[in-house]
Amino acid sequence: MEFISPEIYSLAEAVERRCAADFAEIDRIAMINTEKVMDAFRAERVSDSLFAGTTGYGYNDRGREVLDAVYARVFGAESALVRVGFVNGTHAIAAALFAAVGPGDTLLSVTGAPYDTLQGVVGMKGAPRGSLAWYGVKYDETGISDDGEPDWDAIRAKAPSAKAVFIQRSRGYTSRRALTAEETGKLISFVKEANPDVTVIVDNCYGEFTCESEPTQVGADIMAGSLIKNPGGGIAPAGGYVAGRAELTEAAAERLTVPGLGGEVGATLGQSRLLFEGIFMAPHITAQAMKTAAFAAGLFSELGFDVSPKPGEARGDIIQTLRLGDPDILKRFCLGIQQGAPVDSFVTPEPWPMPGYDCDVIMAAGAFVQGASIELSADAPMREPYIAYLQGGLTYESGKLGVMRAATLIREK
Ligand SMILES: *Cc1c(COP(=O)(O)O)cnc(C)c1O
Repeated sequence: MEFISPEIYSLAEAVERRCAADFAEIDRIAMINTEKVMDAFRAERVSDSLFAGTTGYGYNDRGREVLDAVYARVFGAESALVRVGFVNGTHAIAAALFAAVGPGDTLLSVTGAPYDTLQGVVGMKGAPRGSLAWYGVKYDETGISDDGEPDWDAIRAKAPSAKAVFIQRSRGYTSRRALTAEETGKLISFVKEANPDVTVIVDNCYGEFTCESEPTQVGADIMAGSLIKNPGGGIAPAGGYVAGRAELTEAAAERLTVPGLGGEVGATLGQSRLLFEGIFMAPHITAQAMKTAAFAAGLFSELGFDVSPKPGEARGDIIQTLRLGDPDILKRFCLGIQQGAPVDSFVTPEPWPMPGYDCDVIMAAGAFVQGASIELSADAPMREPYIAYLQGGLTYESGKLGVMRAATLIREK
């Protein structure tokens, strides 16, 4: 049995031809974003001497300061905080949340419940120590439909009493679409019309460089994300970022370190070069992941599965969902993606009871950076209707091969 069957090879050729318009649009966006990054590198005079880094307190780390300035320019924000000291996206988003609300305030999520790992930060179940709820922040939410339509009437009613509004662009483990930058901007305008004083926070995970603009360029006060997703370009070894209005970014820095020190300290330990190189690569790498997703959408629709986004639909993140409808097909899919990875291609993903989930979860990941989902990966809760969440692919070619392998295993059945 070949790694990829002749049937899938020939189907893939036809599918790829039909992807031409999607790919052209992805290339167009990558060009615009690369130009933004190159403009920022030139304006901030990025130079070899910035890569050396600091130890200890990390005072006067020029590399850290210039990297912050580069991110701020690229994202059209007043300032940014880019740190390997953010352990993940959840940590960076938490810093942004704590920057925006305090005791007695209400945080209103207008895209339904936040991502699973953020629910502990908000304190949605029993106000655990250190959560927003524990500090006396109230939480409320309004829903969003599967096709990404917010509940406008509920927002109009609830926004006036909120101190901050939270928007999640990407879909998380739900079946709704991601919001494009344009849709995010429209939602922010609506929220600010209902309450001009409100602070808008965007969870931008998986959204960076998928559109022509970023949330901070369409009205967000602060946004945050992970460096082992899009903006790290597959090169950053760890970290997260916050970008937005200067006073909010500074407050987030004081949450990351301590009040009084903020972003002025924090050794970069020689990692700066990888973060610079990561954001340099990011628009291109994000495009590789989006092409892998578009190809998977085309191939799996061809095989009769329901996919989202559908071929030709606009994308606001790098995630592709495939409704596989059967536990065995889902396991085969994940096995194929695992076998298509450059690292740990020989292991078999098994469902396991992951903390924080109400059912077993299966994950395929064979990445150079542990857990990096800008690299080809797939995961799925083992429950009806057995939807696989596929993302990443550092190169379109390798992503395409992984998707073709998954299709081969499913057709073998
Ligand atoms: C990935 C992700 C996060 C943060 O997850 P980490 O694993 O902590 O980086 C938050 N929100 C969304 C929508 C995400 O996709």
